[in-house]
This record gives sequence, C-alpha cells and structure tokens, in this order.
Amino acid sequence: MRIGGFNKLTTQDFPGNLACIIFTNGCNFDCDYCYNRDLVESHAPEISEEEIFSYLNQRKNMLDGVVISGGEPTIWNDLIPFMEKIKELGLKIKLDTNGYRPELLKEILDKNLVDYIAMDIKALFNEYYKIVNRKLDTDKLIESINLIKKSKVDHEFRTTIIKGFHTIEDLDKIVEVIDGSPYYLQNFRMEDTVINKKLFGFSEEELKGIQEHFKDKPSVTVRYV
Ligand code: SF4
Repeated sequence: MRIGGFNKLTTQDFPGNLACIIFTNGCNFDCDYCYNRDLVESHAPEISEEEIFSYLNQRKNMLDGVVISGGEPTIWNDLIPFMEKIKELGLKIKLDTNGYRPELLKEILDKNLVDYIAMDIKALFNEYYKIVNRKLDTDKLIESINLIKKSKVDHEFRTTIIKGFHTIEDLDKIVEVIDGSPYYLQNFRMEDTVINKKLFGFSEEELKGIQEHFKDKPSVTVRYV
C-alpha cells in the first residue's frame, strides 16, 4: 500500500473519536471535483508504514482510532493486513471509500476490521460516469451500499453536491436507495487543486432550501462547510 499523507491528529473526521488520518495514494476514479489530485496521481511524497506504526505505537493510548482515506484505500489489496496491524494495537478504524471494490469491502466487514464506513455516492447511477470520468459497472456501487447497510457497522453515505449537476430529484432518488442510513450533502467548494474550474457549489440560501426539502427525513443533513 502506498501512503501519500498523514495527519497526526483530528477531532473532526471520525465521529466521537480522537484519531489520526492516513491518506493513500492512487484512485480508481478521476473525479472532476477531486480536491486530492496529488494523491490520485500519486505525486504526493510517500510515507513509510514503519513511520506510521512508530507513531501509532507511541500514541495508541492517546488515540481512539485511525481514519484511512485517500485517494481510494480499497485499490490496495494489502489494505487488509494493514488494518489488521492497526487493530492489533487496539485502535478503531474508520474507512473512507468510493465503494468501487465491494469484494474487498466484504472481506473487511467479514473480518470485523472496520468500525465506521463513509461511502461517497457521487450521483445517480446512470450519471456517475460524468463525475468520475470512467466507464464503470454501477452494480459494484449498489453491492457496496447493500453490504454497508446490512452490516452492523456505523456508517454514513455522502454526496458532494454541484450546482447545475445534482438536482433535488436526483437527491430524492439517492435517499430512496440508501433508505434511512445517515446521508450527508456536502457543498462543492472550489479549490486550487480542482481541475474543472467550471464547477460551482450552492449558495447558503439554496443549501437552506435543500435542507428544508428534506425536513421530514432526519437522516439527511446538509453540511455547509
Ligand atoms: S474518488 Fe475521491 S479521491 Fe478518487 S478521484 Fe474521486 S474525489 Fe478524488
């Protein structure tokens, strides 16, 4: 597994837990709005597993867990032994994923290696290719959603919403698919690293309208930042 980023402490990224975050290099998608191009294109300088585990061994009594993000962590088959090593230290694991490797996700769930999963749902399945710039088999995404929903593991689904692309009708359909699981709508924000400079997020007023639309669905939350 190739690691391209390491943040030693976060209180924000693993709900209810003090954690560090590991960012893996590489991704099987190529999203227009990706904030992490250096990771996706594997330009980020590599950090060794030894360095990570040296830190975790020193801080395992202070930390609750580790977030594994990316890039896309599940492109690496040795993610599983890596997670096993973290578990041996008594730490919890949150996995951020795009859900495109359900077979690996299933193995992770079967081995009880994960305590929280956050899966991106980029768009309606027939529109997905427009965001991820890949021909893809959307059945894999549906399989991952079902695996996560059926598991007893805490989880969330999330969509980065883009003005002019995601409609309320799209979001309604996604809410139907995930059927009551926690669902976060994150507004797109332009950053220097985003390749497609023609993308826009929603205004605060529009975000309030979206939250209002879902007022009868407590599982749906608009994240303003
Ligand atoms: S799946 Fe995530 S990391 Fe991969 S290209 Fe898309 S936004 Fe970037």
